[in-house]
Amino acid sequence: MAVKKWKLSQSHTVLLALASLVAVTMLSYMLVERRQLDDLHRTLASRAELYSATIGGVLAKYEFLPLAIAQSDEVAALLETRSPDRAARVNAYLEEMIQGAGAFAVYVINPQGEVYASSNWKEPTSYVGQNYGFRPYFRQAVNGGIGRFYGIGVSTREAGYFIALPIRRHGRIIGVAAAKVSLDWLEQSWRMPSVAEQIWVTDANGVILLSSISAFKFKTLAPLSEGARKSIHEQRQFLHETLPQLPHRVEQRLTDGAKLLSLNLPREGEPSGYMAVSSRLKPLEWQITVLAELGQVRAAARNAAVGAALGWTALCLGILYALQRRRRIAERLNAQQALKRANDELEAKVERRTAALLDANLRLQAEVGERERAEQTLRQAQAELVQSGKLAAIGQMAAGITHELNQPLAAIQTFSDNAQVLITRGRADEALENLSIISDLVKRLGYITSQLKGFARRSDDAQKPVSVRKAFEQTMLQVRTTRGADRLVLDEDWPQQDIVVLCNETGLRQVFSNLITNAMDAVGAAEIAHLSIRVAQSGDQAVIRVADNGPGIAPASAQKIFEPFFTTKEQGLGLGLSISAGIIRAAGGTIEVQNHGSDGHGGAEFTIRLRCRQPGGKTDLGEQDA
Ligand code: ADP
Repeated sequence: MAVKKWKLSQSHTVLLALASLVAVTMLSYMLVERRQLDDLHRTLASRAELYSATIGGVLAKYEFLPLAIAQSDEVAALLETRSPDRAARVNAYLEEMIQGAGAFAVYVINPQGEVYASSNWKEPTSYVGQNYGFRPYFRQAVNGGIGRFYGIGVSTREAGYFIALPIRRHGRIIGVAAAKVSLDWLEQSWRMPSVAEQIWVTDANGVILLSSISAFKFKTLAPLSEGARKSIHEQRQFLHETLPQLPHRVEQRLTDGAKLLSLNLPREGEPSGYMAVSSRLKPLEWQITVLAELGQVRAAARNAAVGAALGWTALCLGILYALQRRRRIAERLNAQQALKRANDELEAKVERRTAALLDANLRLQAEVGERERAEQTLRQAQAELVQSGKLAAIGQMAAGITHELNQPLAAIQTFSDNAQVLITRGRADEALENLSIISDLVKRLGYITSQLKGFARRSDDAQKPVSVRKAFEQTMLQVRTTRGADRLVLDEDWPQQDIVVLCNETGLRQVFSNLITNAMDAVGAAEIAHLSIRVAQSGDQAVIRVADNGPGIAPASAQKIFEPFFTTKEQGLGLGLSISAGIIRAAGGTIEVQNHGSDGHGGAEFTIRLRCRQPGGKTDLGEQDA
């Protein structure tokens, strides 16, 4: 099954890398932020617990003040019978008590809310004579409980923490012992530079009572309900404070009531992000809230994100580099393998070719050897053939010549014997006739020997300049002297300029003589022999055509007429054409025969081609004999 391979294009790869980069950056930002927030949450929670315990401890510590007052008999006596002396004594007692106790004021209130004695009896803002019946701590205490309250002093206009206990005598509540404590020192301690976090303490209505940031004090976190506003007013908790809302925004609510807030701190232009974690201070329904700026968390998350982005980019680049490197190595390996394969193939091919060449070479060598042997054998055979041919020719010739010569010689013998007898008998006419026959026979012998001369021609005379026309005319002079020459009619065609060929001159004349004699023989003794000679020059060759009006060459004889001793004549020797061909060959020319006329029966035509003398060559015609 064909597996479809998806190849990522370059733009896809870039998009993927960017998307993964964004994802990794965001993920690491979120993870680190989450972890940092968790850490901060835990830290702030424990800090809140700590502050809560501290504040709780501090407040509890002050409870001994009203407790001590409630147990004083002098105080009880004052409450039962108010007299100026007693009041002065109790005032002094209270004043003394407050020394070193760290409290703002301690005082004694009758069940109707009127202050009978107070530690600040001397001061202009003395509580003595004031009525605090509207204060909740008084009401709680007069009803037998412990009064706890934070508010702004009606007389002093200073904020503080109020604690009140009932004063009982004989099972009856005769008054209330109260203490007002300033928590300014606590706030001051939160504002130390060593304290990294911000703190505020809110009451059940969400009003900030204490804060490390003084500007936040007496501001509400949420709009006050109508009931709350009313009770605050009745209790005159914050006197005439308008209790504005703290400008802030809750960004996110976390577990355990923790929140992420956007808050504008005084002297800071931009609102910053904070985490707020609260702890409850039980008996007072207070919330101790510890706040820490998220700048560090965000910075850590940002750093982590940048680090992760850089790391991821480096990783991507590393992977990309590794992939490219691997691809390059693979490509190089492939190329090397391909090269090696090609090399191996080439080597194998070269080996095969070399082997084939070696084989062919060996075969050739064997063939050459064989050829050489065959050639040697052939040469040997040729030499033997030539030798035996020569011997055979000599034998044949000798037999021919012997036969040719013997006949006339025997006749001459007979005729001369007869002549002698006839002369002796005085029959001179008959003797003369015999002598004439003898003369003819001697001519015949002369003809035979003249034919044989052709064989003995010197080869160095074979190519001498000779005028064709001159050689022919001299031959004709000789022919005209012979018997029967009167029936020869010539038809000549000569070019304007004399044609000089390279040939043996006597030989050329013998060739013409043979051709003329053969033509006359072919026509027959009773007929007129028409002989035509046409000479022309073609390039550096002279073309000589000699034709007759005889019967032509029989096809069966055409191949043989140039062979020695081939003859169709009764008296023939069969040497004329053979000798003629030898002379022309020795001159470097050719001789051939064909029957002329359209039907091939117009008589024989011999064509001789001979090389012409080069123009400007030396003329050697003076040597020609007549
Ligand atoms: P010979 O004349 O003694 O026969 P040649 O060699 O001259 O010897 O001629 C060989 C033969 O060629 C002749 O016997 C003849 O048959 C043939 N031949 C030569 N010339 C002619 C010709 N002009 N016409 C016909 N036949 C020819």
